[in-house]
Amino acid sequence: MINMGECIFCKIINKEQSADIIYEDNVFVVFKDINPSAPTHLLLVPKKHISSVNDLKPEDKKMIGDLFLLAKKIAAQQGISDGYKLVFNVGKKGGQIVDHIHLHLIGGWK
Ligand code: 5GP
Ligand code: ZN
Repeated sequence: MINMGECIFCKIINKEQSADIIYEDNVFVVFKDINPSAPTHLLLVPKKHISSVNDLKPEDKKMIGDLFLLAKKIAAQQGISDGYKLVFNVGKKGGQIVDHIHLHLIGGWK
């Protein structure tokens, strides 16, 4: 369990660290991945500090549903609705580096 004060995504959410934010509301922030693996690579991040999918609780059910609806909307806004990937990396073995839950929206290939 990491200290939320040390969490890089909490710092971006609290505007203590800069990021290229393309969307924000009361529940989510969406910003460009600093090391993109595709022409479009965005991170959709709940503002609530939850470490990973493994830490989701029944009370997070609506938020997670809304996260997928937001992904669909952002994909359309980015003009990539014809093909994209949505990825949660879970745990170190699953490739998760940042311990604050986030959905990768990846696409934009020609
Ligand atoms: P994970 O591997 O944890 O699923 O994904 C973390 C992602 O966050 C990586 O793709 C990485 O490039 C991105 N990332 C890490 N630190 C920062 C940062 O400070 N700013 C931004 N915009 N992206 C970051
Ligand atoms: Zn956090």
